[in-house]
Amino acid sequence: MSSDPHPARVPFLDLEAGYRELRPELDAAVSRVLGSGRYILGEEVEAFEREWADACGTRFAIGVNSGLDALTLALRALGIGTGDEVLVPGHTFIATWLAVTATGAKPVPAEPDPQTGNLDPVSAAERIGPRTKAIVAVHLYGQAMDVAPLRRFNLPIVEDAAQAHLAKVGDRTAGSLGDIAAFSFYPGKNLGAYGDAGAVTTDDAALADEVRRLRNYGSSEKYRHDEQGVNSRLDPIQAGLLRVKLAHLPEWNRRRHALAVRYWNGLMGIPELQLPRVAPGSEPVWHLFVVRHPRRDELAEHLRSRGIETLIHYPEPPHLSGAYANAGIRTGGDLSVTEAWARECLSLPIGPHMSTEQADQVIAAVKSFGDDAKKLHLVA
Ligand SMILES: *Cc1c(COP(=O)(O)O)cnc(C)c1O
Repeated sequence: MSSDPHPARVPFLDLEAGYRELRPELDAAVSRVLGSGRYILGEEVEAFEREWADACGTRFAIGVNSGLDALTLALRALGIGTGDEVLVPGHTFIATWLAVTATGAKPVPAEPDPQTGNLDPVSAAERIGPRTKAIVAVHLYGQAMDVAPLRRFNLPIVEDAAQAHLAKVGDRTAGSLGDIAAFSFYPGKNLGAYGDAGAVTTDDAALADEVRRLRNYGSSEKYRHDEQGVNSRLDPIQAGLLRVKLAHLPEWNRRRHALAVRYWNGLMGIPELQLPRVAPGSEPVWHLFVVRHPRRDELAEHLRSRGIETLIHYPEPPHLSGAYANAGIRTGGDLSVTEAWARECLSLPIGPHMSTEQADQVIAAVKSFGDDAKKLHLVA
């Protein structure tokens, strides 16, 4: 490779590439919905719900307006509310916590596994208390966690599967591992809409009915309201677009996997750089490729100066955020593993339309950071 002083920019994720690839099909889906005369719920939403339930291996899927709503309504369907506690990971996107507080309950954080970033069942055991009524297991970065070790607490398990579309543990798919699961179809997710969208999956008919009522003003029959629901219905245009993209999701996930393998092989053995670890039996879908480095900010700056865009998921754990500063959070112990993730994690570019050359450019740039460090040591 030449030493081009101005290498091409590597975006974190090229969202428009998906539209360029599937434009005729996506445009046709929009036209179909516009011509149907049905603009709230209806056949298009029901068709997507069936297809998404089939993809996840669950009996039911209920389309809602966002991942946050999916989580909130899943918790409400379980009867979680004021006075309850819900065990959550300390290391997650804040939506996991916001869903708990939206029900009136309090999040109680437990530590992540230092290798995978997913909830550590040992820490969970230490922090579950008499008021704990449910556990939210987040499948972080696209790696589904095995919820079996959480079953001994005899609490309902809610999956936050917002980053784990079609990720597997053994022969089971994310969304079918717990009692009820929440998905986000935010545009940047592995299955992304062209606006906000989300879904709840479950095998439990009563929970499915309850989520269906809650998303539609607490109503199962027009103008009869049995409870205080919300308006969180999946938009049929988004449903039509998601159906088009769902057909391509397995192939796009395979592409992410190939890039992850390339990163792994290219970045192995660099001192101080921790590569993502996969738990035995887990098949991640590589929503993100997150490395750790003790000099994370310098590494990010080094990559930026070479045209490579990175992000941090997430720089501020919810318990240290302004949102929860005065919320009386019971941590039941320190959160040093959580805080170390926030300090050291860095997400490298990855996506179904990223080229092998772009991945190689990232690998070369990360490696040259190591070289700079060696030079510094020589000078010192
Ligand atoms: C994206 C995401 C959410 C929230 O989804 P929205 O559709 O943006 O509301 C929740 N949890 C996790 C882990 C996420 O990554």
